[in-house]
Amino acid sequence: MSDLPCDEVKRSLNAFLDGEVEAADADVIRAHVAACEPCMDDLEVRAALRRILQRCCCAVRAPETLRARVVTQITVSRSWYWQI
Ligand SMILES: [Zn+2]
Repeated sequence: MSDLPCDEVKRSLNAFLDGEVEAADADVIRAHVAACEPCMDDLEVRAALRRILQRCCCAVRAPETLRARVVTQITVSRSWYWQI
């Protein structure tokens, strides 16, 4: 199970951060992320974004479209950084 594809891990990261995945799945995701730098980066970006949104919006959840846009912008700027 440790050879879970990155795409699948990334799809599960939001649920993982929300604590909505099964404990066994969370272990697999945690093990993958620990060994996979791109997924680790993705998890860190999402976790940081959550902290920012929680601080700014308190209990109000950002609309999914806004969240997706922010994640896209962070991902784009980060991939820009790595290309330099
Ligand atoms: Zn990965």
